[in-house]
Amino acid sequence: MRAILFDAGNTLLHLDYPWLAALARRLGARASADDLGRATAEVSRMGWPAPKMQRRPTEFFEGYFGAIAEAIGLGAAAQRTFARAVEAEHLGTREGMWRRAAPDASAVLATLQARSLLLGVVSNSDGRVEEQLAAAGLRNAFGTVVDSYVARVEKPDPRIFRLALDRLGVGAADACYVGDLLGVDVEGARAAGLVAYLYDPWDVHPELREGRVRSLTALLSLAVAKEPSS
Ligand SMILES: [Mg+2]
Repeated sequence: MRAILFDAGNTLLHLDYPWLAALARRLGARASADDLGRATAEVSRMGWPAPKMQRRPTEFFEGYFGAIAEAIGLGAAAQRTFARAVEAEHLGTREGMWRRAAPDASAVLATLQARSLLLGVVSNSDGRVEEQLAAAGLRNAFGTVVDSYVARVEKPDPRIFRLALDRLGVGAADACYVGDLLGVDVEGARAAGLVAYLYDPWDVHPELREGRVRSLTALLSLAVAKEPSS
């Protein structure tokens, strides 16, 4: 293994669950940050966010964050208010809504860099993911950051993974990928010829016996155990 590619949203960069929980409580839900994390993972398991939705922001935010609000027990009107508030916060701030680095992200990336692995990001985003990785202190770990909005191709299209591999100068057989969505991340990366792992910190895919990690740290033993081919 010579390279590891990462998804950004809900993998390297988590939603700001404490902020979302505070918003939900203002709207009448009894929800903790953990509740928001679990609800988001459940909504993701049901197939959100669907590819191509990110080109239509309001529809995306209403659908995705409306479903998260529903999952924590908010009613229809509060779901819309929740979604609009999240959209305003995401679009109105430099760091956006996915602004909490995964708890082990910095340590894992530093370990992988120390082992001379090439690192990249492949994200379905809105043109701002590189800036958001920088705001979270993670950007410098990566040799390339591919943002679907900039690349004009998005996951699960295998071409976006190949673009990242080409930039790193690595073949698919020497790389793996980790992301939180089965249909977008795992299926797309496998179609491009990479070994792919599902990132599942909330344990919403217990049926998967292989190819699943509960933390980024777990990736170290899986992806780095093999000696780099040269
Ligand atoms: Mg993701």
